[in-house]
Amino acid sequence: MSEPTRRHLLGVGDLTRADAERLLDTARALERSLDREVKKLPTLRGRLVVNLFYESSTRTLSSFELAAKRLSADTMVLRASGSSVDKGESLRDTALTLAAYDPDVIVIRHPHIGAPHLVAGATAAHVVNAGDGKHQHPTQALLDLFTIRESLGRLEGVTVAIVGDVLHSRVARSLVEALLLVGAEPVLVGPPTLLPRRIEALGCDVSHSIDALGDVEVVYVLRMQAERMESAYVPSLREYTALYGVTPERVRPGQVVMHPGPMNRGVEIDPRVADSGASLVTAQVRSGLVVRMAVLYDLLTAPGLRVAVPVMEVA
Ligand code: ASP
Repeated sequence: MSEPTRRHLLGVGDLTRADAERLLDTARALERSLDREVKKLPTLRGRLVVNLFYESSTRTLSSFELAAKRLSADTMVLRASGSSVDKGESLRDTALTLAAYDPDVIVIRHPHIGAPHLVAGATAAHVVNAGDGKHQHPTQALLDLFTIRESLGRLEGVTVAIVGDVLHSRVARSLVEALLLVGAEPVLVGPPTLLPRRIEALGCDVSHSIDALGDVEVVYVLRMQAERMESAYVPSLREYTALYGVTPERVRPGQVVMHPGPMNRGVEIDPRVADSGASLVTAQVRSGLVVRMAVLYDLLTAPGLRVAVPVMEVA
């Protein structure tokens, strides 16, 4: 069999531990360029990165845009609203249209699981999954690993409580896999209705008690994802906050607190925690830039990430 030439980042499952560590090391090397007066590097000059976003985004889209620009690539953004997607164009036809411009990388966010796989099958570009439904968000997981490693100095054996709406969270799924990949120890904390059944089969612990936060080094707070809830999963948001909201009383000295954003202040996280010295939320945003630079750099210049075989049909 001939060696595959296209590499993608469709899920954390595409990564080996060596891949993840190489990407974090590359991100760290690239981070040095952020402190220079002239921040642009010539590495990806003449390359085209297309950002195809079918769901709203602040951090992921802006950081992919800036990451590509900082590496001197050309960039295009296509959002579902205001494009021919509004007129009923299928994802496949949109992908084929974009493919006519010969993009080197297509970064896609889509509400349907498997949409990035479809684009990977329909075009010759390297594809990066920037979030598909409640399935995967691999670059978020990598930036979270980077943030933890920079803050604590290690990943092996780090204890992380991921608290809240795990059921609807692609961030949680990707992060659990990524933490396990690098030897960290995740525990999922939340009410039974917001934890997927048999999730512990992944190899993580599960707790329904907020007291579990006391045992960990990192408290990772998830957003209540109302847009993915077809029915009520908690009696009321007020009750959820009383039982699982991350308040100053529930954070012990020495712990760090993370949140992928956007935060629902006063729901899953108390503003006094979000704005405290324990919060790594802004560091996560900065990590997002350098980690996405590293992913683009790695896909386009270095051997590494495995090819995922596209399998799914998405309308
Ligand atoms: N921004 C993250 C995502 O797109 C987390 C969230 O929306 O809660 O999945």
